[in-house]
Amino acid sequence: MPKTSMPNEAVSVEFYITEECNGCGLCKNIAPDFFDCVDYAYSYFLTRQPSNEFEVLLLRDAAAVCTVDAIRETVKSS
Ligand code: SF4
Repeated sequence: MPKTSMPNEAVSVEFYITEECNGCGLCKNIAPDFFDCVDYAYSYFLTRQPSNEFEVLLLRDAAAVCTVDAIRETVKSS
């Protein structure tokens, strides 16, 4: 069977937040289910990874509004 279909991108990429995060909260405005922070910290963390294509695009939208480029995407290691 030829490999003509695209791999499920949602399971092939993962996101992370770098230490450049300044806690502005813009990402949580875009994707509130994916970002959270603790009161005493000035940085956000991801609550979970995307599980479908829509969620990948949502996290990319969040990354696009991050003014310090702290939301990064990488290929998930198998
Ligand atoms: S938008 Fe960027 S800098 Fe702002 S809280 Fe989210 S990750 Fe941190």
